[in-house]
Amino acid sequence: ESRDSARTITSILGEVESLLVELEPELGRMDAVAGDGDHGQGMVLGIRAAHATAQRAAENGAGARTVLVQAGASWSADAGGTSGALWGAALTSLGSAFADDTAVDDEQLLTGLVQAVEAVERLGRAKPGDKTMVDAAVPFRESLAEAKGSGSSAADAVAAAAEKATAAAEDTADIAATMGRARNHGDKSVGTPDPGAISFSKIVTLLGEQLSA
Ligand code: ADP
Ligand code: MG
Ligand code: MG
Repeated sequence: ESRDSARTITSILGEVESLLVELEPELGRMDAVAGDGDHGQGMVLGIRAAHATAQRAAENGAGARTVLVQAGASWSADAGGTSGALWGAALTSLGSAFADDTAVDDEQLLTGLVQAVEAVERLGRAKPGDKTMVDAAVPFRESLAEAKGSGSSAADAVAAAAEKATAAAEDTADIAATMGRARNHGDKSVGTPDPGAISFSKIVTLLGEQLSA
């Protein structure tokens, strides 16, 4: 039932909130190397708003689609910053693959996650190698697309794709940023991974764990 899915979504958003609260200082320090130091703060503001909105919507009987579409709008509105707009769009786009009157199935989930990354790519117009969250999100998306129709469960597909995202996020330490605020700081970011790529990889890793739980 879509309302069970809505409750599951809300509970996963709660887990993501705890994760981001824990990561806030580290993400802030990473963003301070070549950015403005607010990535941890922005992510916490965004997920807090998204989780609260999802909870309210689910309590009011909303289905999976509405819960996530509304949560995405709240994330963008409350987080501010580049990453806030992108994560808000991602959640809304994920929710758009779901229905309000049926439970979320594995195929919808994989389709939704692919769409969510595509929304980030479309909105931010960054390419892999620009040293943004897209560096982690594109290998994640490609791995999911490969898994689609391979018969593997969504949980396994997300866990495997999250490993690709994690490796790619770590690799961003080797390059200089050419998009976002960090591009103005030339080579200062070399040696430090992109905070948005790291937060993306941590969130999808948690998602993989939550889906197999
Ligand atoms: P702001 O840069 O507005 O302070 P945040 O600090 O919250 O926002 O987020 C910074 C992160 O946003 C960067 O580490 C990068 O991953 C991501 N980012 C910046 N610009 C883009 C873009 N055009 N496309 C995708 N991601 C981007
Ligand atoms: Mg910042
Ligand atoms: Mg900022």
